[in-house]
Amino acid sequence: MSLKNRLFVPMGADGVYARTQTYVHVLDQLEKFITHQRAAQAEVLRFPPVMSRAQLEKSGYLNSFPNLLGCACALHGSELEVRLMADRYASGEDWTEGLAATDLVLTPAACYPVYPIIADRGTMPVGGLQFDIEADCFRREPSSNLDRLQSFRMREFVRIGSEPEIMEFREAWMLRAPQLADQLGLPHSMDIANDPFFGRAGQMMAVSQRQQSLKFELLIPYTPDAKPTACMSFNYHRDHFGVTWNINTANDGPAHTSCVAFGMDRLTVALFSIHGPDPDHWPGAVKAHLAL
Ligand code: 5GP
Ligand code: ZN
Repeated sequence: MSLKNRLFVPMGADGVYARTQTYVHVLDQLEKFITHQRAAQAEVLRFPPVMSRAQLEKSGYLNSFPNLLGCACALHGSELEVRLMADRYASGEDWTEGLAATDLVLTPAACYPVYPIIADRGTMPVGGLQFDIEADCFRREPSSNLDRLQSFRMREFVRIGSEPEIMEFREAWMLRAPQLADQLGLPHSMDIANDPFFGRAGQMMAVSQRQQSLKFELLIPYTPDAKPTACMSFNYHRDHFGVTWNINTANDGPAHTSCVAFGMDRLTVALFSIHGPDPDHWPGAVKAHLAL
């Protein structure tokens, strides 16, 4: 049986899979492993796979990644109008022409919903805030590759505070994450990176992001000769979300923010790719760290 069939069950669309028990067991243990790394003061929030469209628009997502966004659509109108549109399916016509956008989009990265939540609470405490968040994320990138899902789980530690607090947080995590990968027996490298900004204007944004060293990734090669896959990212947003949402630190003006993102599906697939299809046969140290 191929690794893909052992881990996933097809659901009729590329990059959208049911997870098997074997897979979910390892994923759950990896979640606990990451929970152990959480700062004691971090607030835990778990987000649903959808979020407010207005909030994502305000965050600037449409400037950066309009091609990746999924929007929740529905049939609107009177009972008769909805019925007529839905009945088009039975007569072989295109019922989707009747769809219109709702106030929801599919969450494209776990941390977007956290900033408006903090903004609503008013001025931040001295020392800033930390969050442990997670969401099922969607990005419209159909692919049959194991490391490119359209619907995937992203866990993040988010730090909000003054510029020095944020720099310290990100630097500490960039030292710590390779140690965690070592504990899990995963070969890795750390590299500067850019987000896949859309279009010609996006290329300029990507260059600027690299020049300012705003994004790093921890890369893991699934096989010795494979192109490494980005399994964690270390992002510094400067004061983008602080200014956008009017989040202010106790003494230092608009908040700066950073997030460390763990691609839970990519990390879980990495564990199976590198250690083999049967967790019972994984190296003892890796099993011990994951309590498998
Ligand atoms: P970023 O916001 O940095 O693009 O994504 C954060 C993390 O989510 C990535 O480091 C990666 O581990 C995970 N991720 C991003 N895109 C995909 C994808 O298409 N499939 C999967 N499985 N994980 C992804
Ligand atoms: Zn984030």
